[in-house]
Amino acid sequence: MRLDVAVIGLGPAGASAAIIAAQYAKKAGLRVACFEKKAVAGHPVQCAEFVPAMLDAGDLVITETSVQRIHEMITYVESGTPDLTKNFSGHMIDRRAFDASLVAKAEAAGAACTFGVKLKSVSADGVLTFSDGQVVRAKAIIGADGPHSLIGKAIGSTNTDIVETRQLSTTLLKPHEATDIYLSNDFPGGYGWMFPKGDIANIGLGVYPAQKHLLKPALENLHARIAATGQVGADVIGYTGGAIPVGGMLKPDGKLGETTVLLAGDAAGLTNPITGAGIAAAVMSGRLAGEALVAHLGGERDAIEIYAEDLEDLFGASLARAVLRRQQLFDQGAADGTLRKSDLRGGWIAYENYWRPRVSKMDAA
Ligand SMILES: Cc1cc2nc3c(=O)[nH]c(=O)nc-3n(C[C@H](O)[C@H](O)[C@H](O)COP(=O)(O)OP(=O)(O)OC[C@H]3O[C@@H](n4cnc5c(N)ncnc54)[C@H](O)[C@@H]3O)c2cc1C
Repeated sequence: MRLDVAVIGLGPAGASAAIIAAQYAKKAGLRVACFEKKAVAGHPVQCAEFVPAMLDAGDLVITETSVQRIHEMITYVESGTPDLTKNFSGHMIDRRAFDASLVAKAEAAGAACTFGVKLKSVSADGVLTFSDGQVVRAKAIIGADGPHSLIGKAIGSTNTDIVETRQLSTTLLKPHEATDIYLSNDFPGGYGWMFPKGDIANIGLGVYPAQKHLLKPALENLHARIAATGQVGADVIGYTGGAIPVGGMLKPDGKLGETTVLLAGDAAGLTNPITGAGIAAAVMSGRLAGEALVAHLGGERDAIEIYAEDLEDLFGASLARAVLRRQQLFDQGAADGTLRKSDLRGGWIAYENYWRPRVSKMDAA
């Protein structure tokens, strides 16, 4: 099959890119097709489903898929009295409905979306081979295939630093409008969370991949700790998990022979390495990638370069800060479980020290 634009992955990044690319394609008579390995858009969900308001991405389909508002953040540092951060707002969304809504918009714009097909291989000159035997050559590819992107690998942009997570959903027994964060040496390389979603609570945690064996017992303990307060039930409605890229932004563009390649969302390493938030960045980068390819195929010479610059302008500073804070936590003993409470606070967005001017190791030397 010959295409103008092939979009790989229909999470928030791929679907957002497809909406823009398809709108243009209609006018220009170009063929845009999207390929997703999941059988159904947005299912299964691998997400805690919180979108902070400060990362508002314009016309995100947030309001229509919002389950409840969030107004505050409560941070527990080890077992001490928690700290309250007021004016921390956002939405708890129904992530499955959110992804499905974006895909519906892409299809309405004219993108051909195929589900249940997995990209198996990418040749050096950009030929894509899928699990159903389809072979596709496209003028341009958008790699929106998540943290372990095959498209990214093909152009030499790979997320090497990741956090592994495990999450359960349980019954929320008392209405709650805060995201609860648990900072502890029990969660090396990550943190624990309890996010309220209507009458459900998403409880989860992340750790360094080498500590993956801790996920199961640590999640059981966190659930038991929260259940003991009467805030949530002891029941488990379901489990999920997955990888979160935490190494910062990758080079988001490349060439495979004559084929132009752009990466968006997790594939481009845009998830915040401290908070793990990546939904808004996926939507924003997907839209920009769609726009850039439209301009590129229309003959605009700088379009690809501008895409990389736009990502740097939007996400560069916050990702660099978060990468630095992760490194500092590691240097202070995160992997050995020897962080002091002040170290834990300095590595979390609720505390002033997190935002202090960035000092790199080289500057300090
Ligand atoms: C447990 C957990 C909790 C999280 N909680 C939050 C949160 O509360 N808030 C937040 O903002 N972010 C959160 N994140 C991060 C957020 O989910 C991601 O940043 C976001 O999904 C990135 O969107 P994306 O479109 O780039 O990638 P994805 O959503 O991962 O979409 C990639 C798509 O590509 C498909 N795909 C992959 N490989 C192939 C292939 N070979 N062929 C075809 N299709 C393929 C996948 O099936 C998937 O649908 C969480 C992540 C995890 C793991």
